[in-house]
Amino acid sequence: MDPLDQAAACIREGKVVAFPTETVYGLGANALDPMAAARIFELKERPAFDPLIVHIADLSQLQLLTPSKDPRLTRLAEAFWPGPLTVVVPKTERVPDLVTSGLPTVGVRMPDHPMAQELIRRSGCPIAAPSANKFGRISPTAAQHVTRHMPEVDFVLDGGETRVGIESTIIALRPDGYVILRPGAITREDLNRILPESASPVAAGSPEAPGMLASHYSPAKPFHLFTPTLLQRLDPSKCGFISYRGNAPQGFARVLTLAPDGDLKAYAAGIFGAMHQLEASGVECLVAEPVPEQGIGIAIMDRLRKAAHEHGLPG
Ligand code: AMP
Ligand code: MG
Repeated sequence: MDPLDQAAACIREGKVVAFPTETVYGLGANALDPMAAARIFELKERPAFDPLIVHIADLSQLQLLTPSKDPRLTRLAEAFWPGPLTVVVPKTERVPDLVTSGLPTVGVRMPDHPMAQELIRRSGCPIAAPSANKFGRISPTAAQHVTRHMPEVDFVLDGGETRVGIESTIIALRPDGYVILRPGAITREDLNRILPESASPVAAGSPEAPGMLASHYSPAKPFHLFTPTLLQRLDPSKCGFISYRGNAPQGFARVLTLAPDGDLKAYAAGIFGAMHQLEASGVECLVAEPVPEQGIGIAIMDRLRKAAHEHGLPG
């Protein structure tokens, strides 16, 4: 049987399927079935306060999820869907409270990956899906990352490596414009071409931005952002170094260079894969080189800071 048919049958039976999107692999279930959504939380060991993003393949599925007729949503969809942008909109009663962690809103996006779109179409329902990793760990950008960390998933669709490599940009709409809840590959500059940015920023920890924890995306080994003083505190011969353009300090046991020609998109596409590779290797700790905070670099630094946070060392 075609793997896509098998995966779609699983979704219709209320099971959980890992599938590729252009951002990272998702852990998907029928977004309108609370029991199926509950299984995502259980498999991920995800706290119930952290809502799921719902994925659609067609604009006609929007009306199942939101009563909103906000014309800005149509403009955003025309500009960025299918693509790595999640928009938070008021939810309908059809969307289970578990999916939105009790919020009156739901995050929706249309992924730009043929397998994701085909899975949603063949399943016949919108698919709720967080990244297919245990809560707080590194997001998967290849099918083997999923099988290594979550062997208990009902079905894994293999679509090779993901193109973008970091999770979607998430925005909310306010009367005076949009606010970014999570940076991603769709940048502020991209959004500003379509909509004005709201004058009031989102307060960290506000109910508008649940699940935005300081620590997230962490490898199971200590992870640090590189600063020159770090070399006084750790032995590079026991560490792996994730380099931006290849200018790695001397002495590291392994060096992975992600963007020799300086393309930040290549760094984003490779960062989680590099973390997975070093996590599974013999090194004791991981060090990543910071990148310039411009364009997608803002989203990359957001992920690197969150990955480093758990291990307590500044910088
Ligand atoms: P992910 O872990 O990539 O699936 O992204 C889920 C994140 O989307 C959550 O941690 C929230 O921060 C955000 N999110 C999802 N739904 C909503 C919502 N209704 N309101 C605000 N943020 C949301
Ligand atoms: Mg995630």
